[in-house]
Amino acid sequence: MTIEISKKIQGLPESPTLAVTARAKELKAEGADIISFSAGEPDFDTPKEIKRAAIQAIEAGHTKYTPVGGINELKDAIIEKLKIDHNIAYTREEILVSCGGKHSFYNLCQALLNPGDEVIVPSPYWVSYPPMIQLADGEAKILTTTEATGFKVTPKSFKDAIGERTRAIVINSPSNPTGAAYTSSEIAEIAKVAVENEVLIISDEIYENIYYGDDKIVSAASISEEAKAITIVLNGVSKAYSMTGWRIGYAAGPKELISAMTRVQSQSTSNPASVSQWASVEALKGPKDKIDKMTKLFKSRRDLMVSGLNDIEGIKCLVPDGAFYVFADVSELYGKKFEGNTINNSIELSKFLLESAGVAVVPGSAFGDDDHVRLSYACGDDDIKNGINKIKEAVSRLS
Ligand SMILES: *Cc1c(COP(=O)(O)O)cnc(C)c1O
Repeated sequence: MTIEISKKIQGLPESPTLAVTARAKELKAEGADIISFSAGEPDFDTPKEIKRAAIQAIEAGHTKYTPVGGINELKDAIIEKLKIDHNIAYTREEILVSCGGKHSFYNLCQALLNPGDEVIVPSPYWVSYPPMIQLADGEAKILTTTEATGFKVTPKSFKDAIGERTRAIVINSPSNPTGAAYTSSEIAEIAKVAVENEVLIISDEIYENIYYGDDKIVSAASISEEAKAITIVLNGVSKAYSMTGWRIGYAAGPKELISAMTRVQSQSTSNPASVSQWASVEALKGPKDKIDKMTKLFKSRRDLMVSGLNDIEGIKCLVPDGAFYVFADVSELYGKKFEGNTINNSIELSKFLLESAGVAVVPGSAFGDDDHVRLSYACGDDDIKNGINKIKEAVSRLS
């Protein structure tokens, strides 16, 4: 018997960023010398105080089910964090802890969307937004942004994209894949349009700490009471504390919505891992010096990556404000040939770089932009220098 897969899942792509990482690993295992610029996570280890808190939690017997939406200790740590960093006041009913920020977004889509409801997703976008919207029977309305606006939505482009069925817009600042971050006045303008048009703001702040500006990332929820009432903040410990494997993310927002999201979670995963929750309490309440150190290091790597790339004929990129990615325009190389084969798009270029330069990058088409590729600098300086040299050498062989 052939098992028929549901219509909904038949059309669901696998995460393309994870696919590139897998192919690079495969080549490495075969003995090839591969430099990977495809990582979607910091290359640092989880700080030892956080690991210790997890070990202590196991020894103290925190190994059973917890309340579905998270332990109060973690909710309180999140509330305190949001108060200190953004001066926003939340109560426990306005917080939901989930199995990663990705899961927070998933629960939100399930709780919010009816068939045909639209969510405005600015492109280039994080690969997972459109499929999760689609899994909730919603529609991702792609709002294209380019270098001309620093890969940011403007109040006008946002307003023009709003239709009858628009429920929300996703703002991911700093952004994966572009590294673009909104200034406080830009966020205020976006919030104004959202409030006036009764469109929710899904504010993905997972990279807020990895930001190279002098000021701080401003959350839409902190703009005004009206803005807070229409904003769902999504965040987590994955990126700031190098805790991608622990799977803890959270949402903060209006309590009716958080309550609905908690019901989705109660009927699917139940609570996120108890031990990871206790480790996250330590992450949020503990010292912040590691974050600052990591961000400083990322900043110098960014500069190395950006200057190296802009030095290569046919490649150009903006200087990202945050996160650990560079989104480079490689479209000038399209139409060039390698060993008789023409390179026409970001997938073919990425394949060329992997197979003939030994460098793994992620094709921009995965993020809704075929003129670019994403390069992650969550790797050592030597890898960055060597990788850039290899790309330069390979590109010079194109004709
Ligand atoms: C990594 C990432 C997340 C969250 O990842 P989790 O590990 O699920 O917490 C959310 N949004 C963006 C844009 C990311 O890059």
